[in-house]
Amino acid sequence: MGKVTGFLEIDRADRKYAPASDRIRHYREFTLPLSEAATKDQASRCMNCGIPYCHNGCPVNNQIPDWNDLVYQGEWQEALRNLHSTNNFPEFTGRVCPAPCEASCTLNLQDQPVTIKSIECAIVDRGWAEGWIKPEVASHKTGKRIAVIGSGPAGLACAQQLARVGHEVVVFEKNSKPGGLLRYGIPDFKMEKRYIDQRVTQMREEGIIFRCDVNVGQDVSVDQLKAEFDAVVLAGGAEKPRDLPIPGRDLVGIHFAMDFLPQQNRRVGHEPLHAPEPILASGKHVVVIGGGDTGSDCIGTSVRQGALSVTQLEIMPRPPEKENKLMVWPDWPLKLRTSSSHEEGAERDFAVNTVKFQGQNGVLKHLRVTKVDDKFQPIPGTEFDLKADLVLLAMGFVSPMQEGLVAQTGAKLDARGNVAADTLSYKSSQEKIFACGDMRRGQSLVVWAIREGRQCAASVDQFLMGSTVLPR
Ligand SMILES: Cc1cc2nc3c(=O)[nH]c(=O)nc-3n(C[C@H](O)[C@H](O)[C@H](O)COP(=O)(O)OP(=O)(O)OC[C@H]3O[C@@H](n4cnc5c(N)ncnc54)[C@H](O)[C@@H]3O)c2cc1C
Ligand code: SF4
Repeated sequence: MGKVTGFLEIDRADRKYAPASDRIRHYREFTLPLSEAATKDQASRCMNCGIPYCHNGCPVNNQIPDWNDLVYQGEWQEALRNLHSTNNFPEFTGRVCPAPCEASCTLNLQDQPVTIKSIECAIVDRGWAEGWIKPEVASHKTGKRIAVIGSGPAGLACAQQLARVGHEVVVFEKNSKPGGLLRYGIPDFKMEKRYIDQRVTQMREEGIIFRCDVNVGQDVSVDQLKAEFDAVVLAGGAEKPRDLPIPGRDLVGIHFAMDFLPQQNRRVGHEPLHAPEPILASGKHVVVIGGGDTGSDCIGTSVRQGALSVTQLEIMPRPPEKENKLMVWPDWPLKLRTSSSHEEGAERDFAVNTVKFQGQNGVLKHLRVTKVDDKFQPIPGTEFDLKADLVLLAMGFVSPMQEGLVAQTGAKLDARGNVAADTLSYKSSQEKIFACGDMRRGQSLVVWAIREGRQCAASVDQFLMGSTVLPR
């Protein structure tokens, strides 16, 4: 433990954002890092509370009190080593993780939690800046070959773990660049893509081969991969979006969020759009249906593109401003969350459902919306119209796409249509086929994808070698 009285003397202080009026003019990150001295102060607030609930709150079980102490002692390189022992990509989670660790911090019971996520980010950013992060090339080769399908956080973590114990790993990715939703879903203003590029460079130097622009199930069959490789890992994500099949759904101007967001990321990355038409919010009244992360990203992107107005509709009731900590701690609390994108100028309406889309000459003009009760039933007499030129559907994802890859594996699916595999073996019902990340657990978080990729790698290594030194 760093400073015994740190939590009594020092208030929580976290990274700030550049002013909204400045940041909406570009797509770069706008979070302002804490100074080294402020980061050290914040690390000293960690109480060494005996039972660190944050270990369990964090899906990769980061050893948070240990690296807080190391940062307080100025042992940054050792803090980085410790952090990497549980998390392959702290620069991703340090930027986009919702930080369930902070909800479960013991200090959060009576006070404000330790700024765990910001400290994590500071450690790894310093590691890159100082040149401490180097390729970790395996000292011996096993001669085993593994195909990882999908280069999101699950596929990347799985591939890196397997390469580091000497396996030959080939990552197949249908998009032109690796990263999955980190690259094509999450906007640059939340995470710039150079962080993916530098990790991919490290992974290439560790011997991993990336084969992009290859859609498995279409350009190469699963049977071919099974013949060529000793194991195949399915890490293709959960890409099937939830639709809103109500009258007027076929009007021009209604799109899934994931038809809209990747286009902007591709523009920023100077990539071709790969789309039949550009979808832009510029000069439009935009309505975002769905209140999660994806909805927030649609707001921030629409604002940057110059939308006239942005409204977000959420079917759930407005959550309380503050949680009752004594009731919910150490679990993730239900409370009103206002993202940086919300602060940039969106109207939010809760407990509302869209009844129909209305248009003229086949083009969207309005939404008919109704208030709903706590059972999501329409409340008579509460209907109203909302002007809209562009509707973005951000209501989550149902499951992986079934056609192509998943169908070709012949693997059993769970009740929700995900590839069925347990979290001990990560084995699908098919010989030598494994599954991890959103493709196995359904739509989730980057940190859960990293955890599953790491654990799946341990299971694949065990399967191929009869034992493993990889952590679970
Ligand atoms: C817009 C948006 C914003 C989000 N924001 C956050 C956030 O802020 N914080 C957070 O923690 N989580 C966020 N998430 C969720 C998070 O991104 C996902 O949970 C995570 O990326 C899942 O990782 P994955 O590796 O399982 O799958 P993915 O990241 O989906 O990667 C799967 C990869 O597999 C590839 N693939 C699929 N099929 C094939 C095939 N047949 N052949 C070859 N390649 C294939 C895909 O192209 C893709 O690159 C967000 C999600 C979205 C959509
Ligand atoms: S990965 Fe997420 S949950 Fe884990 S320590 Fe970092 S911010 Fe917290």
